[in-house]
Amino acid sequence: QAQSAKATGKTRPRPDKLPATSQYHRTERIEKRDSSETPPPARLSVGDHVKLRRLDASTGLIEEILPRQSALVRKDAGSTAKKVMQQTLLANLDQVVIVLAAAQPEPHFGLLDRYLAICESARLQTLICMNKMDLPHSADVEEAATLYSKLGYQVLWTSTQTGQGIEELRALLKEHTTLFSGPSGVGKSSLVNALEPGMAIRTGLISDATGKGKHTTTGSQLYPLSGGGWLADSAGIRALAAWNIPAEELAWCFVEFRPYLEECFYSDCVHIDEEGCAILQAVQDEVIDERRHRSYVRMYTEEER
Ligand code: GDP
Ligand code: ZN
Repeated sequence: QAQSAKATGKTRPRPDKLPATSQYHRTERIEKRDSSETPPPARLSVGDHVKLRRLDASTGLIEEILPRQSALVRKDAGSTAKKVMQQTLLANLDQVVIVLAAAQPEPHFGLLDRYLAICESARLQTLICMNKMDLPHSADVEEAATLYSKLGYQVLWTSTQTGQGIEELRALLKEHTTLFSGPSGVGKSSLVNALEPGMAIRTGLISDATGKGKHTTTGSQLYPLSGGGWLADSAGIRALAAWNIPAEELAWCFVEFRPYLEECFYSDCVHIDEEGCAILQAVQDEVIDERRHRSYVRMYTEEER
């Protein structure tokens, strides 16, 4: 019931902005979800917080599953074709560290935009971690990172070689349930091991020497960090990568677009080539970074397919 209260989508041009010939091409409603509106969980998942009635020193009874702050779902094709079954893989994850390398491999900022949009859609806080700072890197790296700081994302500079930024990273994980994500080769497992020796194997970031990966199971697990906080394993990475952002929510997932979403000429504008689009205007005015808008367009067109 709370779900519908937030629906703000209108499907007509704003009356004060009616064009001579009123034509609009899409009729989807834009609904903005609120993080506090997740329905009460029906089944217990890894990461759930519960109300426990103590029976004796070692036994308790779960009386209630508490509302979730976030839920990472696994989307599987069900047995009947096209039916999508959703199952919570991991509950209450609250932070994602998106790792990129300053060099080797060169950072791919379009990919970063994708990860960020997914985290916004999943209502997860993000830290951007620029690793391998010990390697020579192009000035673009620091320039691009400045853009993300301006958008309000925290950017960390680390190196597992020199130890730069590792204590800072550790402190930021303390009170959180965190998932490390990012392309391969950027140093995710090296970082996790720098934080806690042996953790990279436990979390499935690197497969163990036996080759008998215990991560063939589809479930996700959380691992405690000795300094406080929890780390999610690689099953969480896969679930996050498979996250689907509804096309009508995508623009909202680009944080700097938000102030303009209500300003476009057409209330159902998709901000790609429409006349009177406030976001395109902001790009032209260089208030919104053009590269970020390109990332948006690329993701939007992919979603449409
Ligand atoms: P993952 O695939 O993201 O888990 O990346 P790995 O942790 O396996 O690291 C990939 C490669 O980068 C390995 O050869 C690491 O030794 C190296 N590496 C990781 N962190 C750093 C760093 O901070 N500086 C440098 N120079 N190399 C690093
Ligand atoms: Zn627009």
